[in-house]
Amino acid sequence: MINSSLSPKKCVIVICIFVLCLFPFVTSAQSVGNVNDLKIYLDSKDSVYENICIEYGTQTWNLYSMEDEADLKTPKEKMNAFLQDNEFIENIDYWNKNESSIEDEILKRRVFVYNNIIEGTKIELDSEVREKTTYLLEALRNRNEDDSSANAELENRVKELMKLRNKKARMLGYENYADYLLDYYGIGHQWFKDFTKIIEEKTEPVYNELLAKIKEEKDSVKFRDVMKYLKRGYNPEYSMDSNFLIMRETIAGIGINYDSIPIRFVVKEADFGGNCIGVKIPADFRVIMVPGINFSAFMHELGHGLHGAFTKSESAILKGYEWCFGNDPPAFYEGMAVTMADFLKHPDWLDQYTNLTDEEIRKQVNIDKFSSAVWMRYNLYAILAEIEIYRNEEENHIDVVKKLFKKVFKTDDFMSRQYSLLNTLYIDYPCYLQNYTIADVISYQVHKTLREKFGENYVNNKEVSKFMIENFYKYGVAKDWKKILFDATGSELDVEGYFKSLGLLN
Ligand SMILES: [Zn+2]
Repeated sequence: MINSSLSPKKCVIVICIFVLCLFPFVTSAQSVGNVNDLKIYLDSKDSVYENICIEYGTQTWNLYSMEDEADLKTPKEKMNAFLQDNEFIENIDYWNKNESSIEDEILKRRVFVYNNIIEGTKIELDSEVREKTTYLLEALRNRNEDDSSANAELENRVKELMKLRNKKARMLGYENYADYLLDYYGIGHQWFKDFTKIIEEKTEPVYNELLAKIKEEKDSVKFRDVMKYLKRGYNPEYSMDSNFLIMRETIAGIGINYDSIPIRFVVKEADFGGNCIGVKIPADFRVIMVPGINFSAFMHELGHGLHGAFTKSESAILKGYEWCFGNDPPAFYEGMAVTMADFLKHPDWLDQYTNLTDEEIRKQVNIDKFSSAVWMRYNLYAILAEIEIYRNEEENHIDVVKKLFKKVFKTDDFMSRQYSLLNTLYIDYPCYLQNYTIADVISYQVHKTLREKFGENYVNNKEVSKFMIENFYKYGVAKDWKKILFDATGSELDVEGYFKSLGLLN
C-alpha cells in the first residue's frame, strides 16, 4: 500500500535512505571484506584454534595417563569463547553464504569446516545444556552403583538433558537432536534412516530362517539362543611385547616403518578399551590401552595414529582435530582405524601371525550367514536405542528400548535392567555408535580395493601404504569424506557389497 502511493523517484530516495541506514550494520556484521583478507584472517584463527586443540589433547591425555595434573576446564572454556565470538561467527557465516566468490578450493573448505563446527557445537555450547552436561559428567563418574534411588534420580536427569537437547534442535529446525547431530557428523539424517532400514530389511530373511531353526531345536526362541550366534572374527591375544612386535611387523608388511610414526602407547586402567589422542597433528599421537585388551584394539588405535600422522593438511581446521562436533567426520575416522584392525581377518595375515591351521583359517574366513544376521541386528539395536529415545522423548525410555528390542530381535525376553542411561557416553559422545557400523562398511570397501589393486597378498605389499597415504590419510578433512571414498574406491559407500560379503545377499 505505501509503495504503491510513491512516485518512482520517491521510491529511489526511500531505497537510498534504507540502504544508507543498513550499510553501517552490514559492515559491522562481517569485518573481512575480501578474499585476500579472508586467508590472513583464517590463518590467524587457525593458529588460535590449533593451540586450543593442543591444550585440549594434552589435558585429555593427562586425565587418562595421569602423567600430570589434568585441567580440562581451561581448554574447554577457551574453545567455547573461540566458537562463540560474534565477529568470528559473522565472518564465517558471510563467507559461507558467499562461498562462490572464493576460487581457492582449500580456502573454501576451511570456511565450510569452520561453519560446520560453529553450527555443530551450537547445542552443546548452549548455557543450559552446558550446565546440565557438566553436572552429569561429574555425578556419573562419582556415583555409588548400589544407591538405587540416587541412580534413578540421576537417570531422570540424563533424560532431562536429552529432552533439552531435543528442544534446542527443534529451535534450529530439526525434528530431534539425533537428526541434528547426524548431519554434523557428516552422515546425514535421511541417509542414516535409509541405512538402518536396509540393515533391517536385508537381514530379515536370514534372521527369520535362524529363528525357525532355533524353534525347531528348542520349541521357543530365547534371546540367549540368538546370542550364541553372535561371533566375531578370530581375535588373537599376545603378550604385551608381542603386541608391539606384531604391530611393527604388520605395518612393515605394507611399507611403514613403525619407528617413524610419532605414536606412544601407555597401558593404564580406563573406562574404555583404547583411545588414541591426536595431541598435535601430525606430530604427536598418544594412546591409552587398558590392560588385557585384545590385539585388534591395538591395531584399531594404531590405525587412528597412522591416519593422523600422514595427514598433510597445513591448515589446522583441516587436520581433523576431534574436539568439536562438526570437524572430523567420525564414521570415516573410525573407518580408517577399523581398516587397520581388519588386517587381522586376512588369511595371509592369520597364517603369518597366528598358530591357526589352514583348516582353522578357512573356517575363520568363511562367514556364517546366521552369525552375520545376528551381528548386524545386534548393531542395529545398539545404534538405534539411544536415537529412538531422542525420537520418542515423551515415552518412558525403557518402553522405547523394549519396543525396539522386540522389533529387532523378535523375542520377548527383554531385561530392562540391561538398559541404563547411566553412562558418560550419552553425555560426552551422544549418538556415536553408528559410526562403528559405517566404519565396518568403509573398511570392507577399502580392503576390497586393496585386493583389486595389489592382488590377494596385499598384506605384504609395500606399495599399499603409499596408496593409503595418497588416497585417504593425506587429506585430513580437506576433502569431503564421501568424495575421498568415492575417488579412492570407485564407488559410494557400498552397503550392498558389504552385505554380500557377510553372506546376507546373493
Ligand atoms: Zn576408534
